Amino acid sequence: MAQNEGKSKRQEFNCCAVMEEAAMRSRERRAKRKQKPMPWIVLKLAVGITIGIVAYTFYVYIGRLCVPMIRKNEGALGGRGTGIAFLVVFCVLGLMMLWAYEKVVMTSPGLARDFVKQAPEPVVNSFVPAWWDSQRDLTGMPYQYTGQGEQPPESTATDLPNGPQTANGHHANGDLQAGMTDAIPAVAQARVAKPNAPVPQENGSARKVPQNTRRVPESPVLRPENRYCWKEGFVKPLRAHHCAACGTCVLRYDHHCPWIGQCVGARNYKFFVIFLEWALLFCSWTFSTLVADQAKSGHVDPEKIVIIVLSAFFVLFTVSLLLSQARLIMLNTTTVESLRGQSVRDREKRVLARMHPWYALGAKRRTRQQWDQEWGRIDYEGNLWWLGSHRANWESVMGTHVWQWFLPIGRSPDDGLSYTPNPRHDPEGRWRPRREWPAELQ
Ligand SMILES: [Zn+2]
Ligand SMILES: [Zn+2]
Repeated sequence: MAQNEGKSKRQEFNCCAVMEEAAMRSRERRAKRKQKPMPWIVLKLAVGITIGIVAYTFYVYIGRLCVPMIRKNEGALGGRGTGIAFLVVFCVLGLMMLWAYEKVVMTSPGLARDFVKQAPEPVVNSFVPAWWDSQRDLTGMPYQYTGQGEQPPESTATDLPNGPQTANGHHANGDLQAGMTDAIPAVAQARVAKPNAPVPQENGSARKVPQNTRRVPESPVLRPENRYCWKEGFVKPLRAHHCAACGTCVLRYDHHCPWIGQCVGARNYKFFVIFLEWALLFCSWTFSTLVADQAKSGHVDPEKIVIIVLSAFFVLFTVSLLLSQARLIMLNTTTVESLRGQSVRDREKRVLARMHPWYALGAKRRTRQQWDQEWGRIDYEGNLWWLGSHRANWESVMGTHVWQWFLPIGRSPDDGLSYTPNPRHDPEGRWRPRREWPAELQ
């Protein structure tokens, strides 16, 4: 009997070792494939194209719209005065846009490697639970998970009741976890338990995962081992992410923008938004005046039509980008981070669909309100970086003075290195229910 047990344990161990090695190999292969960033010329190609489009727009607008008016040509849209006014407005908007463009292209978003030291690779458990998959880094590399609070399926049954799980897996990095059991009692334990798995028991009493409550991501995203960049070998600063195109970690990574040939991150984010503002004004002005001209003159000028089409496209493009960026800034989240909130919302939709029939919209709303009571709202209290108000979030990126929101001067107030996690989350970045928040926030 005892021998049999020993044998099966050994087999289990060997099996795990093989799996672990395979996972490690595939990780290495993936890292190698992703190691090559885009060549410089490809990265900057769109910058040249953008400048070319703007130059052509200047040529057509000034040469074919303003100059005929100033020369009082027949069939022109207006007289000399109108021509000069159009020219001045066009040049002011165009130069403001180009100034902001120059700032966003020339300002580095902030590279993590310039600020952090190399660190040894963390010890990882290659087991990546299925629900974790959707939380992959944009680069395709899963955040490494050490398996605490989560066990490979084969061991749950044997280890759960008295194994490391009851201690909440705190043995692995004890000092980091000091006091955690006191700080987050029962509910946290229930939350770190695997969904549908036997619930850990303490003092003989069964603890149930509440079914009718909001399920929030249980991943300890702030743990150093979960922020390790495997390609560069350091612990990423808070909110930094690895950009596959640039081949390096970028501070407060938002997205890689081909139009500016680099990433939009902490230190050029503000200039990116200012550029969008001026680009939107410039394109709207160009579009509306050229459409008016074509409507009045009656004869079709193909070069003006090209600019009308281009400016219409860029109006739509910049307006949607500007609106989505303004929303992200006011929520203090990034394109990558907002995926987390999205996954909570998606899961919630599925749970609500199971709880209520499809037509019971009122009941669904009430359930959601009840969850908001228990937890706070997903995009606000549930956001790891929420500063407490839209205004505070906006000012942390764009600055406190209104002129800073429109003029590409100075530096971004955000250096990309100093972030304070939302106190409604535990020190490892897990969202806590309202009753566990600090008293002053209740
Ligand atoms: Zn990196
Ligand atoms: Zn990039």
